[in-house]
Amino acid sequence: MKALEGLKDSYKISVPVKDGDFHGFGSLDGKKAPDFDYQNTRLSPKSLVYPQSERMFEYTLDENDPDANILKESAKDYSPHAIVGIRPCDAHGFQIANLNFDNPEYRDPWWVMHFESSVLVGLGCNEPCSTCFCTQVGGGPFSEKGLDILLYDLGDNFLARGLTDKGEEFLKKAGGGSQADESLLKDAGDLAASASEMISTGVSTDKLKDKVINELFDAPFWDDVAFGCINCGTCAYLCPTCWCFDIQDEVLGKEGDRIRNWDSCMFPLFTLHGSGHNPRDNKVQRVRQRFMHKLKYYVDKYGNGVQCSGCGRCVRYCPVNIDIRQVSELMNNF
Ligand code: SF4
Ligand code: SF4
Repeated sequence: MKALEGLKDSYKISVPVKDGDFHGFGSLDGKKAPDFDYQNTRLSPKSLVYPQSERMFEYTLDENDPDANILKESAKDYSPHAIVGIRPCDAHGFQIANLNFDNPEYRDPWWVMHFESSVLVGLGCNEPCSTCFCTQVGGGPFSEKGLDILLYDLGDNFLARGLTDKGEEFLKKAGGGSQADESLLKDAGDLAASASEMISTGVSTDKLKDKVINELFDAPFWDDVAFGCINCGTCAYLCPTCWCFDIQDEVLGKEGDRIRNWDSCMFPLFTLHGSGHNPRDNKVQRVRQRFMHKLKYYVDKYGNGVQCSGCGRCVRYCPVNIDIRQVSELMNNF
């Protein structure tokens, strides 16, 4: 904690804090004490890089203003931001979402600037939840993927492993840098191995890329999968790898803002055309879309595994117990 306090001049710092019955990320501003004794936050830390609502542009409609009707980019804060205590699955989640926002065809300037100014200080999971399946989708409770630093909670001590230049700079500013002794390194290795063994869920994804899209699309199981869904959007909003958004203009008097807000393919309005036609106007089509996107379209497009980091949030919080692990089995073995 002392080390973090000393970094406040160099970084905005976000840490896990307890909020009612759940944990979330909050600012290290003294209002709520950091709490690293947690399994994972209810919402993923996605909003720290990609806010749920983000003002993109602002404008005036006042014809007396020489700048009337000209969109001006809203001011943003891209100062260095350390996200401390992020779980490895959520760092992996950022890597997956980054493929959508930063690729050879398109670079989203706001995502890129927020992401590049962030330092991801991971905290390995000593005790994964029963719903976690990170090891089945290319990660692990102590995976270094996407992290700048990985912390091991060894009880009396934290061991910090710098993984990138950004991470090493953070550690230097925090006053770290000494080499850990052999016994601590061994303890860290044992901890990581035992945590991985605790993840018992098997999830098959190995045959997804060989499936024919149209056959999966027309598979008979979608009615059953979607039967209980109430299209609440919970699964998409707490997911670290869902990236869809909508853009709205909000005008008050003569002043306007152009804002982008998270959206979800689970909502009926998501695909409603201006003509009134809706290509996904029933829930079976929407539920199918969510899983086809994560487990087939993404797989085919990026050749990089599935669009899921195995955090298990949608499994834990879906009010009708729709379970992506079971859907993946259905699709993989169809
Ligand atoms: S959380 Fe469950 S019920 Fe809600 S939209 Fe997602 S799958 Fe449907
Ligand atoms: S699909 Fe579910 S398990 Fe996978 S990353 Fe999103 S919330 Fe986590």
